[in-house]
Amino acid sequence: MKYGVIICPKCGKARGVESRRKTTTCQCGRKIILTRMKLQFPTDSPHELADIVGKVNASLKGGGPMPSAKKKRKTNSYAVISEKAKVTKDPLEKMRLIVAELAAQKSELDADDFKQVAIMIGKENLEDMIVRLLDLGIIYEIGPGKFKAV
Ligand SMILES: [Zn+2]
Repeated sequence: MKYGVIICPKCGKARGVESRRKTTTCQCGRKIILTRMKLQFPTDSPHELADIVGKVNASLKGGGPMPSAKKKRKTNSYAVISEKAKVTKDPLEKMRLIVAELAAQKSELDADDFKQVAIMIGKENLEDMIVRLLDLGIIYEIGPGKFKAV
């Protein structure tokens, strides 16, 4: 992995760094010795790195959830969808949009997908959201924990 994210021990901000580098200097002026830090969210994509740093910083400020370190490819496509969903502020429209985007990428949606949707629209209760989506006829159940968009 070419890049990773570190959290500055002085100002607490996330920074993207190249994993081959030994030191970096934070915007706050603190010199950080990378060999002593654990690189988080390793990635090969500078674009993804910038995205993760932005999310981690937003999350540290209390503005959003931490990006998930696992399932790199999925996280990335969720990030794209989340970006598209920003066109609307209405939570219902947002949900509809996200589900439609997800459905375009995969034929079946599962609890994991809805967890991501919940994070994107800032809803805490996953079950409630799924019930709501079912109620509204946005999705239907095709099996235990498996759904399809209508
Ligand atoms: Zn700093």
